[in-house]
Amino acid sequence: MINLSYSDCVRYSTMTTARRPVIGISSYPRNGTPPGFAVPCGYVDGVRRAGGIPIVLPPGDPDPAHYLDLVDGLILSGGGDLDPESYGGKPHQALYSVCSERDSFELKLVRAVLERQDRPVLCVCRGMQVLNVACGGDLHIHIPDSFENAIAHRRPERLPAEHHATVERSSRLATTLGVMDVIVQSWHHQAVREVGRGLRAVAWAEDGVIEAIEHDSHAWCLAVQWHPELQPHDPVQQRLFSELVAHSANGRHQPGAR
Ligand code: MN
Repeated sequence: MINLSYSDCVRYSTMTTARRPVIGISSYPRNGTPPGFAVPCGYVDGVRRAGGIPIVLPPGDPDPAHYLDLVDGLILSGGGDLDPESYGGKPHQALYSVCSERDSFELKLVRAVLERQDRPVLCVCRGMQVLNVACGGDLHIHIPDSFENAIAHRRPERLPAEHHATVERSSRLATTLGVMDVIVQSWHHQAVREVGRGLRAVAWAEDGVIEAIEHDSHAWCLAVQWHPELQPHDPVQQRLFSELVAHSANGRHQPGAR
């Protein structure tokens, strides 16, 4: 049996806490009865498996840049469509779950992340589209309207579909995943069209739909159109969470970090 003194316990708990980066996860819009701010469990589990501490960031704060003082890294989660007004698009009957409160919060949050440079960020599905729009890019508003031979990027009943994605060899994403051919859980009907400033496309589906983008100058800003949180048993997809958490730990030692 090991006996620890009180000061040993305090020192140990401080060390343990210090080793676990805090990852803020942007939440879905107000929903349910009573209304709540929800985050799919897969994001929380992915961060915990990687040794991080997940916290939920609900939309609504007019100045989300302050949240960056509370976290070491971020996930912009999936969800409904951006208001097409945010990128000069037109309304479309296939749009769903548009929420101006969430759009405003996440667009400001990701712009603050790019300005500060010291918070790693993983953008998933809608999050990738938010990143692209924040950088001045735009979206295909409904994939079947733009890609004649589109593969299934979601099942008709609005459920995930599985497909391949090819990752560019020289990308940070390829280094992160450790492979250049991945099987992904796809659950979207929109896609990046014009790639925003400072970003580049680094993965594609067989029909040419952009499946990942990354930032050229930010230290760690990766965005995937697919859902790694829906593949909890795939060690390749878990690397997205693991690398996010690892780089978030490193970020504490950079200038400007807390
Ligand atoms: Mn897809």
